[in-house]
Amino acid sequence: ELSKLTTLSEGLLQLAHTGNGIAKTKLELDSLITIAISRVLKGAEQKQILIVPDKSKKLAVRGEETSLIEALVTVLDNAVKYSPDKTEVKIKTGKSKEFAQIEVIDQGIGIKASELPYIFERFYRADSSRKRSETEGYGLGLSIAQKIVDEHDGSLRVKSKMNKGTTFIVT
Ligand code: ATP
Ligand code: MG
Repeated sequence: ELSKLTTLSEGLLQLAHTGNGIAKTKLELDSLITIAISRVLKGAEQKQILIVPDKSKKLAVRGEETSLIEALVTVLDNAVKYSPDKTEVKIKTGKSKEFAQIEVIDQGIGIKASELPYIFERFYRADSSRKRSETEGYGLGLSIAQKIVDEHDGSLRVKSKMNKGTTFIVT
């Protein structure tokens, strides 16, 4: 319980803190993704979920390293958490105008169309996630990720099909 509350308060602090401008540097997208994957690898292995990163395209981005990694971890963590065992999570990278684009594609439970507009709201959790004891959370991840992406003038979009899978697109 203590560790859950620690996570919760850290999330809340982060929500409160961003906003007064962040120091951006030039970063290699590949290494951000590698670090983010390493943070969710244990959970993925426990469910025998394979995370498949894109072939290296050597994209550079300007941003704040810690928060960008945090945003990627959030999306990857969700992909693992809301997918059945023995599925795959694919990561595709590319460019869209002057922005880097990262797609995280899972083969998970999906999100109902009627719930899609709400998942970026603080503390919102879809019905199916609340019912399952194995997918615990506070519904904070995406609201923080959204905030981080906003700070980088980017966008966070989602496409989903029930029982087929979900794709998050970080631009
Ligand atoms: P936490 O605060 O630990 O991240 P959480 O995962 O429930 O908790 P969010 O990451 O904000 O919170 O996600 C909000 C909700 O969106 C989830 O509860 C889940 O219902 C839905 N969701 C997010 N990502 C996916 C996904 N890849 N597949 C299916 N549902 C998802
Ligand atoms: Mg989450």
